[in-house]
This record gives sequence, structure tokens and C-alpha cells, in this order.
Amino acid sequence: MNYQQFFRDQLTQLSEEGNYRIFAELERQCGAFPTARNHTLTGPEKVTVWCSNDYLGMGQHPKVLAAMRDAIDRCGAGAGGTRNISGTTHAHVLLEQELADLHGKNAALLFTSGYVSNWAALGTLASHIPGITVLSDELNHASMIEGIRHSRCEKRIWKHNDLTDLEQQLAELPANSPKLIAFESVYSMDGDIAPIAGICDLADRYNAMTYLDEVHAVGLYGLRGGGIAEREGLMDRLTVIEGTLGKAFGVVGGYIAASHALVDFVRSFASGFIFTTALPPSVAAGAVASVRHLKQSNDERVQHQQRVREVRDRLDALGIPHTPNPSHIIPVMVGDPVKCRFISDILMRDYGIYIQPINYPTVPKGTERLRITPSPVHSSEDVDRLVTALGELWTQCQLARRPMAAQ
Ligand SMILES: *Cc1c(COP(=O)(O)O)cnc(C)c1O
Repeated sequence: MNYQQFFRDQLTQLSEEGNYRIFAELERQCGAFPTARNHTLTGPEKVTVWCSNDYLGMGQHPKVLAAMRDAIDRCGAGAGGTRNISGTTHAHVLLEQELADLHGKNAALLFTSGYVSNWAALGTLASHIPGITVLSDELNHASMIEGIRHSRCEKRIWKHNDLTDLEQQLAELPANSPKLIAFESVYSMDGDIAPIAGICDLADRYNAMTYLDEVHAVGLYGLRGGGIAEREGLMDRLTVIEGTLGKAFGVVGGYIAASHALVDFVRSFASGFIFTTALPPSVAAGAVASVRHLKQSNDERVQHQQRVREVRDRLDALGIPHTPNPSHIIPVMVGDPVKCRFISDILMRDYGIYIQPINYPTVPKGTERLRITPSPVHSSEDVDRLVTALGELWTQCQLARRPMAAQ
């Protein structure tokens, strides 16, 4: 086999299908978010980022930066080992306590990313509990799907956010067989929110465990940033809450929060936890500062929601279609992969605005979109420039507008 030719052929095919991924090479400007220096070959040097998952700008928060600098000065760069072999530092333990408290659980366990936390926790639970069936929402994130698949357990996919379908599937399983319902709170592409209370009711009725991915909600919802489950008073009804430190908390890393026994079980059996170097202490210290700050400060959350409202209102005024949802994610529907990429390219080249196009297979064909994530670090002038640019491009691409009345 000509290996190199194989790789090139696969990539050519990907390009022909329009699915070849091109990365924008950026350098975020600390203290000036959402501004970034653009190292991409096309486009201006200075761009405004409108698609970051650093939803609150915590990645440049003075408390976070100070904690990270201090930890580097005191402890050096890396953790120096796996958690089991010299890699458990004081900062890791503090962070796990902080996260358990955030979600009202007895314990929490850190992983190197949210992806790894889903993959390892779901994989471990599903592979070690004899006869378990995992019931997985059809729009679950790749990390959950991979974890479930890796476990080779019995699995059932239920219709997205559909309690009737979930109940039907639960009812078909033997009453005494172990079950785990895996789902997300805020779904990242449509910004819709799961009926968590209804799912917990079904879990109680059918004696199932629940596993909730709150990655797009932690830091952002609830009085202390515990997520949608905190906002709705449901944290104690969930078996496992999973989150990331890489989105609203502005750093990197993932975790689960649950009972002491479950966390200790995953800690003891999850290969993806055991056999990898712990996060650098500076990362853990930065995350502690971020989580602590957002537990006692609501300002960022209030400003975040205000900015989202402002962008939505301004889009409405121009009739630019965006899917209504109860979250902070604004999907602006283009519905055509070529136009979606074109608009994204022109926004970058001519307007200095960076929004990555979201095309198939990330979203279904015909629902290609620009996924806009406003944040407290965007100014009203930033919003103005964004909406004006979109208005001009909507005309240029002859895309349909919504009637302006009756919004
Ligand atoms: C981003 C994401 C993850 C992975 O989190 P990382 O910390 O980025 O690895 C998990 N679940 C969902 C729903 C996500 O969007």
C-alpha cells in the first residue's frame, strides 16, 4: 500500500465533499478580548472573535491570571506525573473540592478535558456494570458517544429531548436491569435545553441513573454558576454532573461531580483518568480562581444575557433569521454550505469578524449556520459592526429575511 497516497486521497475526498476543515490561526489579545491577532494568510491583522466558547471572557480575568502566575512561580510548569504517581498536587485537590461544592455533590474528579471526562466516565460506568443499558439522547456530543461505544454495552438512542420516546424505551427494558440515561443540558449547536426534571422523573420511575453533560452551562446559569440543574433546583436528582473548565471557566480540563462512591469507583477503574499526566498545577489553580469568582459574582452572567438579548434584537430589526432558544447560543441560519462558508470568509476578509461556519456533518444538511456566541467582552460597537456586516452580506447573497413585523 502507498500510505501517503492513501492519506492524500482521503483528504481530496473530504475537500470535494466540502468537509475539509481550515483553521483560522489566531493569537488572542489578553486584556483586549474579543480581539485577536490574525495570522491566517487572508484577512486583516486584527479580528473580532464571535464564536469563542470562552463565554464570559474568564480567560483574561485578572484573578485567574494572577492565580496561574503565582502557581507557576511556586510550583513550576507541569504536574510531573499521573495523579497516582506524584501528580496529585494541592491545587488539584482544592479544585475537586470546589467543583463538588459547586454541584452540591460529595465528590468530584478531574480529567484533562471535558472530552476525556465523558469518554472515561461513561466508558468506565458502562463497561463495569453488568447488564447495563445506556439510553443516549440522539444529539449527544461525540465524547459521550465514543465513551458509550468504547464500553461495548447495550445502548439505545432516544429521540432528542423527547420524554415520550425515552419512556417507551425505558419501559421496554427489564424492570430490574441497570440503566443509565445520558444527556446534555444546553445543546451547543441549537442552544435548546433538555427537560431535566422530566428526565429525572422517568429515571426515578424506572430506577435508572442519570448522567448530565453541563459543559455549555457551567459558569453561565444558576446563582453560583452550577448550570441549568442548579437554576432549576435539580442538582440533587442527578447521579452524575459532568462539566468543562475550558469554556465559561476560561481555562482547560474536565470533571465529573457525583457521590463519593461513584467518583471513587471511576477514579479507581478509569484508564483515561489513571494512565495520563495530571493537569499542570497552574491550570488547576486558575480554574479554582475562576470557579470561585463565578460562584460569588453574578455580574458576568447578567452582562452575558444582556449581550445575547442585544444581538438577537438587532438581528430581528434586520430580519436576519436566528433560531429562537432559551440559551446564550445564537444560531444564524444560512441553510447552504457554500454560502455559509462564503459569508464566513468575507466577514473575516472584509470586516475583520471571525465566525467559523458550521456545516455538515456537525449539523444536518440544509441547516448550515453561523453560530454566534456573544459575551460580556463584546462592546455595543462590536455588536453594531457585526449586525451591519451581516445585513450587507444577507443582501449580497440574496438570502431570505424574516418579516420585520410581529417578531
Ligand atoms: C466541548 C464539549 C465537550 C468537551 O469539552 P472539552 O473540555 O472541550 O474537551 C463535551 N461535551 C460537550 C457537549 C461539548 O460541547
